[in-house]
Amino acid sequence: MKYSFTGDTMQLRVPAKLNLTLDVLSRREDGYHEIASVMQSVSIFDQLTLRLRPEPGVTLSSSLPFLPIDQRNLASRAALVFLQHTGQKVGVEISIKKRIPVGAGMGGGSADAAAVLFGLDRLLHTRLSEKELATLALTLGADVPFFLLGGTALAEGVGERLTPLPLAPRCTLVVAKPRYGISTPVLYQRFDQRGIHYPPATPALVQALRRPMTAAQLAGLCSNAMQEAAVEELPAIGQMLQELTEAGALSATMTGSGSAVFGIFARSSTARDAVTAMRKAHPGCFVSLAGIIRE
Ligand code: ATP
Repeated sequence: MKYSFTGDTMQLRVPAKLNLTLDVLSRREDGYHEIASVMQSVSIFDQLTLRLRPEPGVTLSSSLPFLPIDQRNLASRAALVFLQHTGQKVGVEISIKKRIPVGAGMGGGSADAAAVLFGLDRLLHTRLSEKELATLALTLGADVPFFLLGGTALAEGVGERLTPLPLAPRCTLVVAKPRYGISTPVLYQRFDQRGIHYPPATPALVQALRRPMTAAQLAGLCSNAMQEAAVEELPAIGQMLQELTEAGALSATMTGSGSAVFGIFARSSTARDAVTAMRKAHPGCFVSLAGIIRE
């Protein structure tokens, strides 16, 4: 995570994630699903400003007027959890420039929450251990600990058990999101009804990452077990996957529980042409180039 300070103010830039693979392994008694996934930070960022205030309380503003600004916002909740845990009697003003599309399966809310935990720990000189920060992060959501780590990582359990992996190969990605999101509970329900047909894909990618690999090899190993159920639920996802392939992507895959999809391209010029074509075909929809990053 990139950050800079000026006195009591901190600016942070937190990257989105893509699930290069997503296996749904089983449904637990408590209703949660055990997964295995290779998660990857990519160069689409939210920008946060944190300001310390003498008077207690957490306030939040964001560039998207439809996002909640109270405790329903994961970034506000992260600040409250942090202040309560550390017993610090200060106030925090959070301002977020949202660039990560909302409801995309790119972990935007989780990214913001992780940035707040990471930022407050530095601003307040509380020096929590990595383990303590990760434990706090997990109370906010299964994906939040990944954003403290970044880079390429294997996520297991409900997504919280993380193992850093060698970085995925350089390649150009195109990320696109249909106008509408997809409800995660509804998607899991449909997925459970269909049954699990996929052999897990994550072990093969984890193995392959241990050696130098090409973008084409990476593309051949990306998959998402929930993609077919998601396409049934929201055909626009299937449409965008097809458009990415037709525009020359080596592979096209949905991230998380959607609704964003990503194409892996061998050449950046082909990827740029794909962005132009898809922006024209889907005015107002999120379509962006992205790269793989270490942060
Ligand atoms: P994931 O990949 O973890 O499933 P997502 O990308 O599908 O997440 P988010 O963009 O994190 O989903 O947002 C999902 C919901 O969370 C939205 O309904 C939104 O109102 C709420 N939310 C709360 N805080 C935030 C935040 N800081 N940024 C974006 N969404 C937020």
